[in-house]
Amino acid sequence: MGPGAVQLLRAVIMGPPGSGKGTISSRIVKHFALQHLSSGDLLRENMNKRTEIGVLAKSYIDQGRLIPDDIMTQLMLRELKTLEQNHLLLDGFPRTVPQAEALDKVCSIDTVIDLDVPFETIQQRLTARWIHSASGRVYNLDFNPPKVPGMDDDTGEPLIQRDDDKPETVMKRLKSYEAETRPVLEYYRQKGVLKSFAGTETNKIWPHVHSFLRTKLPDIG
Ligand code: AMP
Repeated sequence: MGPGAVQLLRAVIMGPPGSGKGTISSRIVKHFALQHLSSGDLLRENMNKRTEIGVLAKSYIDQGRLIPDDIMTQLMLRELKTLEQNHLLLDGFPRTVPQAEALDKVCSIDTVIDLDVPFETIQQRLTARWIHSASGRVYNLDFNPPKVPGMDDDTGEPLIQRDDDKPETVMKRLKSYEAETRPVLEYYRQKGVLKSFAGTETNKIWPHVHSFLRTKLPDIG
């Protein structure tokens, strides 16, 4: 780094599905001047534009599988190059140790925000959504439950769960996080850049993430 150069933040946010990562990320972006690079958003953009990578990615995502490391890494590193001059928040990448190693070769991560939400809380949150299929009405057992358990308020008809909200599917996603992504936390812990935020409520975790980042960047929100 040359004299007078600004130390650019190189951050990653991690957390299992249902950990509130989406909410926390959008709050970070609102409060701090950094570039948010989300692998999921980038993939969806490529799928919408039907790029070569987008078409390939769709076949994996439709099967609920991770995109192969080499494709994912190529896509993200190409995008990273265009953002080099900014503070950075990576989201959804790296999700595996090989991705973290490939990233390391071009960009040294200095901060990893880990949302450490208990397994039971996540399971409960992810399976709380029920829908009335005819109308599309959505209920959440935690914050807008139906008046009669399991029944639609207007018609009295039974509610159902979407396939990807069913306990067995939720378990599959959580297991994949444990197997593939948990080791990435360990990888960063060993590098001394992991900062874990434990809690069961996003609104209680957020102030801690906020004050932590305030030690690194000015709040512009
Ligand atoms: P997300 O919006 O982060 O949940 O990403 C949606 C889907 O894109 C995931 O379920 C994966 O199939 C794929 N995906 C996103 N990021 C990655 C990554 N870093 N490695 C492999 N697959 C990914």
